[in-house]
Amino acid sequence: MNDLPELLHQAARAAADFRATLADRPVARSIDASDLRAGFGGPFPSSSAPPEEVLQELIRIAEPGLVATAGPRFFGFVVGGSMPAATAADMLAVGWDQMAFNAVSSPAAAAAEAVAGGWLKDLLGLPGSASVGFVTGGQAANTVALAVARHQMLAAAGWDVERDGLPGAPRVRVVAGAERHATIDRSLRLLGFGTAIVEPVAADANGAIDVADLARVLGAGPVGPTIVCLQAGNVNTGACDTLRPAIDLARACGGWVHVDGAFGLWAAASPATRALVDGLELADSWACDGHKWLNVPYDSGFVFCADPRAHVAAVSYIAAYLEGSGITPAPSDFVPESSRRARGFAVWAALRELGRAGVVELIDRCCRLARRFAQGLSAGGAEIVNDVVLNQVLVSFGNDTRTDNVIGGVQREGTCWLGGTTWRGRRLMRISVSNYSTTDADVDCSVEAILRVASGL
Ligand SMILES: *Cc1c(COP(=O)(O)O)cnc(C)c1O
Repeated sequence: MNDLPELLHQAARAAADFRATLADRPVARSIDASDLRAGFGGPFPSSSAPPEEVLQELIRIAEPGLVATAGPRFFGFVVGGSMPAATAADMLAVGWDQMAFNAVSSPAAAAAEAVAGGWLKDLLGLPGSASVGFVTGGQAANTVALAVARHQMLAAAGWDVERDGLPGAPRVRVVAGAERHATIDRSLRLLGFGTAIVEPVAADANGAIDVADLARVLGAGPVGPTIVCLQAGNVNTGACDTLRPAIDLARACGGWVHVDGAFGLWAAASPATRALVDGLELADSWACDGHKWLNVPYDSGFVFCADPRAHVAAVSYIAAYLEGSGITPAPSDFVPESSRRARGFAVWAALRELGRAGVVELIDRCCRLARRFAQGLSAGGAEIVNDVVLNQVLVSFGNDTRTDNVIGGVQREGTCWLGGTTWRGRRLMRISVSNYSTTDADVDCSVEAILRVASGL
């Protein structure tokens, strides 16, 4: 017997039960990957199984391998949690099984994206006329934005890259900060530019672009199609490039400016941090994540372009079954996928739940808690290595080995989870405060646990 409503209730209950344990369970347990795989099964079974059994089996097998990344004391990578309404909305998106291709496949999904996209532009201070694509994350957003940049720069040079590709095309320059995110390089690989095309610009002590060096690099090469990649929110330090003067320099060369703001773009949403990204609205394209600081479930990212026509020209396609549909541009004209999950519902729900005041409070609180982390650890004898301008903190416990040992010890201890990084040749503990549910008490007990592990070494 297949009772779908009861099955969905069971799934929702299991998710709810897991969420209820988030604040107290060890953040990550050590688990043997081969045990987990063995649990999921050996050879592919030939017989079918009732869906209720499949669900219960999945819940039982997966449980020990779940990490409390959605909880208040996961400070690794740049991992947001997921707002209650956004989590429930994403479950609806799956239950409704809507295809967010265009306004025929799901009028509701298209409308939710249109409205949520408008709210995002408003919050982030982007031009109201910019186009928005709801993509899987920062990587996809960077790739789409750089594809649009490639289109526009080459079209201006008289080259149709969509038709003729890159062989024989006019040379394009790509100028990017030395501290750019690795996804920029992967996007360049995927777009056929290759990574060697990058003309790197030096970074300052906190990882923001050195504007004088940007002027030097731009001036050292020929005038022509040029893409300048700037960043809001360095993944280690949180540093934001000084966008206004950097964009002015790029503009003077006729260049396209892309801003990778996977999490740092959210600085624009709060009056307290807005100055960090001053001039942001002058760029041509922007990448931002929903699943990091907005606390939308995975996967969720946004690509914005100031010129919607360039966006559509680079990304959309025509097919016979779409002709005469009268719905252009459609949501799918701004993303690399055709059929896809209706990501707009969860984004709309997170924004609706928070409201403008809630977004500001979320950004401000995470930044304040990052400073609280830094103060607590510093008071306990640790060295804070970065200028804590946003939600990221870099910490040293004396030397590389000792720092790595503290990180490993904290991960095993289980109060909180954070990772390590190499920054300017040093091994450092890396803390990212990005979760909507993190409180002062979570930070205090995490600081206490970290210092306890450090003193026990
Ligand atoms: C996280 C991050 C990315 C990649 O985003 P994903 O959502 O993981 O694809 C790109 N750039 C920066 C600055 C980031 O922090």
